[in-house]
Amino acid sequence: MNIILLGAPGAGKGTQAERISANYNIPTISTGETLRAAVKNGTELGQRAKSYMDAGALVPDEVVIGIIKEFLSSEKCKNGFILDGFPRSIPQAEALDRTGVKIDMVLDIEVEDQKIIDRMSGRRVCPACGASHHIMYNPPKISGKCDKCGNDLVIRKDDAPETVKARLDSYHGITEPLKDYYAAKGLLTVVEGQDKVEDTSALVDAAMSRLK
Ligand code: AMP
Repeated sequence: MNIILLGAPGAGKGTQAERISANYNIPTISTGETLRAAVKNGTELGQRAKSYMDAGALVPDEVVIGIIKEFLSSEKCKNGFILDGFPRSIPQAEALDRTGVKIDMVLDIEVEDQKIIDRMSGRRVCPACGASHHIMYNPPKISGKCDKCGNDLVIRKDDAPETVKARLDSYHGITEPLKDYYAAKGLLTVVEGQDKVEDTSALVDAAMSRLK
């Protein structure tokens, strides 16, 4: 089962990718997570990506296409995969098409901009283990500390309000045309993101079960 998760930044793609991955036992790759890890580790990839990410801009296509090609060619993808955060532009989708990999479904999680802005302004992440909390919707048991590992939670640099605005602009201008691209191929399934994660999860599960 080969799945693409589409949606604005903060729409909840990561959470759903993790769930689908666990339920169907297929690997997921988040290009955003991969790039953040590269920045943290100071690799060459990270050095190339950092300034774009800090500005809320997309990193150059060839950088992310390289990451995805490496992932898709790995043994663990032989029974399927989930792409979270890729493709994010028509040229990226065309590059994916050229790999010859067949996509079964593009799941688009729709959340309106104001809700995205509210969600991101309250998001707190753990720099040590990557866990994500929200001061309103998923507060840590001890304020400011990660539930999973106890580290201090921080605001992701690209969750700052002006960067969120840039990320949403980039989403609407460059990524959203992918909806038409995949609808024309008969692959698009739209799920309305709900206020409660479990409600969105139920809709995603229903969409997944229709695929079987
Ligand atoms: P995310 O966590 O998915 O919102 O990604 C964080 C940042 O990583 C984005 O704002 C971009 O700078 C970069 N990024 C992630 N995926 C892509 C992609 N497919 N193409 C270009 N840039 C990406």
